[in-house]
Amino acid sequence: MNQLSVQQIKGVGPKLAETLEQINIHTVEDLLYYFPNRYDHYEQKPLHELIHNEKVTIVGEVLQEPMVTFYGRKKSRLTVNIRVDGAVVKGVMFNRAFAKKHFVPGETISVNGKWDQHRLQITIDQYKKGSMDASNPISPIYSSKGDIKNAQFQKIIKQIIQDYQEEISEFMPTPFLTKYKLPDRFTGFSEMHFPSSFQQLKHAKRRFIYEELLLFQIKMQLYRKRNREATQGNAQVINMEQVKHLIQQFPFALTEAQKKSLADIFRDLHSPYRMNRLLQGDVGSGKTAVAVISLYGTVTAGKQVAFMVPTEILAEQHEVSLKELLPNEVKIHRLTGSIKGKKRQQILSDIEDGSCQVVIGTHALIQDDVHFDDLAYVIIDEQHRFGVHQRNTLREKGILADMLYMTATPIPRTLSITAFGDMDVSKIDEMPKGRKPVETYWVKQNMFERTVNFIYKEIKKGSQAYIICPLIEESDKLDIQNALDLFVQLQEVLQGKATVGLMHGRLSTEEKEQVMLDFASNNVQILVSTTVVEVGVNVPNATVMMIQDADRFGLSQLHQLRGRVGRGEKQSYCILVADPKGETGKERMRIMTETTDGFELAERDLELRGPGDLFGVKQSGLPEFKLADLVHDYRALETARTDAIELVEHQFWKDADYQSLFDYLQKELDLDKQTLA
Ligand code: ADP
Ligand code: MG
Repeated sequence: MNQLSVQQIKGVGPKLAETLEQINIHTVEDLLYYFPNRYDHYEQKPLHELIHNEKVTIVGEVLQEPMVTFYGRKKSRLTVNIRVDGAVVKGVMFNRAFAKKHFVPGETISVNGKWDQHRLQITIDQYKKGSMDASNPISPIYSSKGDIKNAQFQKIIKQIIQDYQEEISEFMPTPFLTKYKLPDRFTGFSEMHFPSSFQQLKHAKRRFIYEELLLFQIKMQLYRKRNREATQGNAQVINMEQVKHLIQQFPFALTEAQKKSLADIFRDLHSPYRMNRLLQGDVGSGKTAVAVISLYGTVTAGKQVAFMVPTEILAEQHEVSLKELLPNEVKIHRLTGSIKGKKRQQILSDIEDGSCQVVIGTHALIQDDVHFDDLAYVIIDEQHRFGVHQRNTLREKGILADMLYMTATPIPRTLSITAFGDMDVSKIDEMPKGRKPVETYWVKQNMFERTVNFIYKEIKKGSQAYIICPLIEESDKLDIQNALDLFVQLQEVLQGKATVGLMHGRLSTEEKEQVMLDFASNNVQILVSTTVVEVGVNVPNATVMMIQDADRFGLSQLHQLRGRVGRGEKQSYCILVADPKGETGKERMRIMTETTDGFELAERDLELRGPGDLFGVKQSGLPEFKLADLVHDYRALETARTDAIELVEHQFWKDADYQSLFDYLQKELDLDKQTLA
């Protein structure tokens, strides 16, 4: 079936086959999976049941030659009288004078279009000689890619369904079809292309959505299994006594969620399998602490760790916390793009001879001249900022180390089990004790002065504030100008009362470092910034986050920004300054004031903006589904995933009932039974 070329279909010659090739249709199966992108509904009703202004179908006899009048430069109007149920209906069609020849007096014609009840008139969209196929009032419309007309598509596919019923064999296990009441494959195809009713069409769609998601999830689970099994032999011999000792030295007690994530990670590090784990946790939930403790485990095993972060600022901050939290004898280097010359050479050689145990850095870490002595553990922070490409570079470098991906952007479950379906997931879903939720307010632009007064009051209490400038898409020049203007304005207003700092992406690394140091040590009380502070920055004394033109940001990004405050004991505030014009903008502001739960926000963001926007299309790593929609089909997705996990765990390919499913996957996946068994 898979192999049957389109040329074998009756009525498809070499020329049409070539045209089909151009739109990537090679086999009979490709054609069957080329689903209509919409359907026209030609349901024929008696005249008196037709509803004014709705789309209707009328079948009748052409009374006389149509009349065509031309007007304007290229415009025309065709009118034709059609006898229906003993009445005369007037058909009107615009700019299709050529159609005149199809309306032959005395012949039957079917027309479809908008109905005018008062004038007994129909504005014709579609027409068809002869009467409607009453058994098939729903007609498929294919996207007209290439040179193939809709009618031609319909004809070919009808032919397949007629001639190849035997070959369209089922591969979905019967238990699933029964359990979910799904139509079999042949019925499914037939109903997708030529629905007998909308109800049947719905069932057919359900089948193919489930099929699509199940096949995808099985692939993910198989990759996951293969990944683990193909890399045996990297068990780390960790000194847990030393790790426990380190935990006791920490300035706080770990939360239960942190302990649980650590247990997951240590189990993976100890095991001979390669870790491939996603650590999800809201901003401030303490992922860094988990990373530090776990990487110390690798250090005690005498191996190396690479800690990758998306920005230089973060690399610097993490370097500081690592040096603070880890014992002095652990040698830590920072390697970023701005470190050059002799210093860089020294660092590279320390990495290569193994004398440096922990390297923290940006993507400079995965450049070609970096060679590790014995890299066993790679931590990637804010992983969604690293493209799939960068993730692959690590694999291509032959790095079979244990991998931990951390993200503070809570990822809606549907996305995480799709984009990261091949990974294990640990979740820190509990905030450290004593954290007060950030109070969030939405104010209008004209309240700017009052807001600045509020900030000043907080500063008098010894606290600090961030002010984030509007995001101007595609232009960091304008971003910086905005920040500069605000910086100058505030300096004037608060002269002698508070020190204002300025941070933006064009500052040199040294300048950025200086600004952050000034802010962290409270020499600067207000930090005006572009969004560069978005990720990971930690100044617990800051209690106000004010965001200008907040409606320009997505929910997840606002949540990230809000996460910069509320990190200490004091009550913190987030002030969203915005005059949103659209409903979506207003809705976003409202949602922000209602919840501080990152996972809930992520789900709402997904609903409001769609999956592509959440990650950035290119970096999303999301597969493109033909039918399935990650927002609406989340239940099917969960079901498919549960089924896939069970199938793979129970080695379904050994069971005769599942043989055809396995064969089908094998053709697609190129997996051999030996690696799986
Ligand atoms: P994340 O990386 O998840 O955003 P961090 O690891 O930076 O969070 O932690 C945020 C703040 O909370 C830091 O100041 C950290 O020292 C502190 N912290 C982490 N874990 C705990 C805990 N269990 N109890 C109290 N404070 C904690
Ligand atoms: Mg962090």
